[in-house]
This record gives sequence, C-alpha cells and structure tokens, in this order.
Amino acid sequence: MIIGIDDTDSNEGMCTTYLGALMLEELQEYGTVDSLPLLVRLNPTIPYKTRGNAAVALKIKTDCPEKVVTHVISRIEELARMECEKTNPGAVFIQENDYERLKPVLMSFLEEAVKDVIEIGKAKDIISELGIASKSFKNGRGLIGALAACGAMLNPEGWDFTFEHLTYRQKERWGTPRDIDKESFFEADQETYPETWDTVDLTNRLVVCVPHSADPVLFGIRGESPEIVNKAASLIRAESVERFAVYRTNQGTDMHLLPAQSIAEIRDMHSYRLEGTVSVAPKTLEGGHVIFAVRDREGAEIDCAAFEPTKNFRALIRKLVPGDLVLLSGSVTSGTLNIEKIEIKALVPVCREENPKCPECGKHMKSAGQGQGFRCKKCGTQSLSKVRSETGRDLETGLYEVPPCARRHLAKPLAREKRQDIMLYPSR
Ligand SMILES: [Zn+2]
Repeated sequence: MIIGIDDTDSNEGMCTTYLGALMLEELQEYGTVDSLPLLVRLNPTIPYKTRGNAAVALKIKTDCPEKVVTHVISRIEELARMECEKTNPGAVFIQENDYERLKPVLMSFLEEAVKDVIEIGKAKDIISELGIASKSFKNGRGLIGALAACGAMLNPEGWDFTFEHLTYRQKERWGTPRDIDKESFFEADQETYPETWDTVDLTNRLVVCVPHSADPVLFGIRGESPEIVNKAASLIRAESVERFAVYRTNQGTDMHLLPAQSIAEIRDMHSYRLEGTVSVAPKTLEGGHVIFAVRDREGAEIDCAAFEPTKNFRALIRKLVPGDLVLLSGSVTSGTLNIEKIEIKALVPVCREENPKCPECGKHMKSAGQGQGFRCKKCGTQSLSKVRSETGRDLETGLYEVPPCARRHLAKPLAREKRQDIMLYPSR
C-alpha cells in the first residue's frame, strides 16, 4: 500500500516530514515499510501553502491495510496543527492491486501539482471518480499533495531525484534555540560538497540547513545519494536527536520550471526558463531589491528581480546592461520573474566617451578650453572631439545562481549541473 500525506504543519510548528518519519517506525507493527519514503515539493508560488509546500509518501507491504489506515488517520488527528487556518490535512491510501491503474493519472497529477495551480475540487474529483481511499480534514487541501506524492511513489524512475537526511529534535526542545556546533556544518560541507549542497552558504558565512522556526527539524542535509547525506550528517555536532529519516525527493531538480517560448505565454504563479535580451538596465529599489527588464523576440517585456535576500547575487545582476542576452530561471508572481538562476549567454560591448589619445606619446590629451577641442601639452598635437572606446565588461558569460541562503527547495543547484559546455559560477 502507498500512503500519501500532506499539509499537517503550520508556520508555527510540526512538519509533515516528521509525521512521515514517525510512520516509518510505527507502521512496522503492521508490515514491512519501504525504508526510503518520499518528500515531494509542490509549486513554490502557491500563496496558501504553509512553509515548504512539502508532501510525503510511504510504501508498506501489509496484510492488514485497515489497521494501517486507522493508525495513520489517528496520528494525523493527534499531531496536525488543526488550529492553524492554513493547515488542511489530507491523506490518501492506494492498494497494491491499484498501482498500475492509477500510475498514469497520478504521475500527471504530480507534474501538474509541481508546475501548475490545482484547485482542491480537481483532487476530490479524481479521488471519487477513481475510487481512491482518502481522509481529509477541514477544507482538505492536503489531498492535493497527498495524491501528488503517491504519483511520485508510483513512478520511482519517472522523475529526477535527490535525497535529504532530516533529523528531528527531542520533543522537550521544540520551540527552544537549537544547540548546534556551526563549525561542524562547514566541515561536513567541506568533506562532501558537491555531492551535498545547501548545508552552508560560504559567501555569506551562514549555516543554511538548520531552520529557525519552532518545528521539530534540527537540520536537513541534501545530496545525491543516501550514502553521502548520511556521511555528512554523521559529521555534524549538535544536540542529541530523537530520530532521523532519509527522504528521496524532487528538491534540487528544477522540476517546477516550464520552458517559455515567449513572454506572452507567461502567467503568474508558474515558474519558467526564459531567454531574452536585457531591455531596461538594472536599478536598485528601496529595500535593496534589484529590478531590470528583458525583452523577447516578439518585443514583449517582463520585469525580472533579484530581491534583497539574494544578497551577493545582486552585485552580479547590477552589471547587466541593455543588449545582454540572458537565459533566466525563476518563478513569476505579480508579473515579475524572481530569478533563481541566470545564464549570461552574450555580453554587448559598452562604449565610453573619452579624451583622444596623443598620436605621439600615447597619453590622453587635455581639454584646450570650452569649444577648443583637445591638445597634448607635451607634444602640441591637437584633436577636435572626444572619441568612443570600448571598455571591458566586469562580467563573464556563464551560468550563475542565487546563494544557498536564498535557494528555493526545487531549484537545481549548480553543484548538480554536469555541463561541460559552459562556465559555472557556484556561489562558493
Ligand atoms: Zn603627446
């Protein structure tokens, strides 16, 4: 049986992955639980999501499916933050003899839940039309993620994936400051990068894999394999943990990105890969956000932003000038593309007007007075007007990303790019 669970957390506490980790252990009473549960991130632009928009799925071989269903539902009732308006738990249960029948429907549902905006009605329709066992609480929005996570579990090879080793705090410590040895995170990163990523942000000297909220997570290490995330986790020195789980996940895969052929097709609450030419130079707004515009081949324009939390990435963006050719990845909200990555494909030369050089000695001439042209004091040579000359660009073509402290869960880090054809600029 496959169990999908979503939306049990609130902004103040709990975490659906913690519930998943508990189930991993508790359900062993009823059968054999597959040791690699799934953690699926959905469309990051959905406004009513709780913190991370994460759903989980587990797989169990059992002779007593009714008992499993009862247990899962009672644990959701106990642990979910029902008092939070945004917390609307959902769980779905798929029997083994239904796997083949539901596989295509739920795989495309997963794609849609990550890339598009799904209404709760659609999830409820699929559940009733296909006769899927489910349980929902309050408005039941969690059914969307629960179904999507099952779609991922039914098609284990149908999508790119990474792993995350999540550790959970002892209950009495929830809500208190986390006791961690920061230096050990930098050491673990040093040992395992680029097979792991987003443990620390070297440029900004931050530990980024430790949340600040009151939820049960102590830290999460992301990487390419269970072995490497376990190795990195073993190098961390911190308060003792209650439990841990290694999830297979769609984090760091760019699964949310849609290829945009033109700006006309771009819609809010979707994420794209878009090629265009810088049409309005970057400017820094109040609050430190950097905004510029790009134009596509049809002449349509869209605003693009490197917001303040992207820190040092903004210095790079400020160097763009109109005419530069860029390929952008990012989410669109309120008509603005929030940049996650940028490939600078071509730079236009920038010209500067300067005083002419003396043909004799090679030094720049000085102004000979208002309307008098220019003259070399030493050689006496003269010239009438300023000249334009190309200046070097303090920028190179290549692929750049926002720093780890600003990364979206789904954004594929450059550490995972295996491209040989282009210069990568990881923010380390
Ligand atoms: Zn001269």
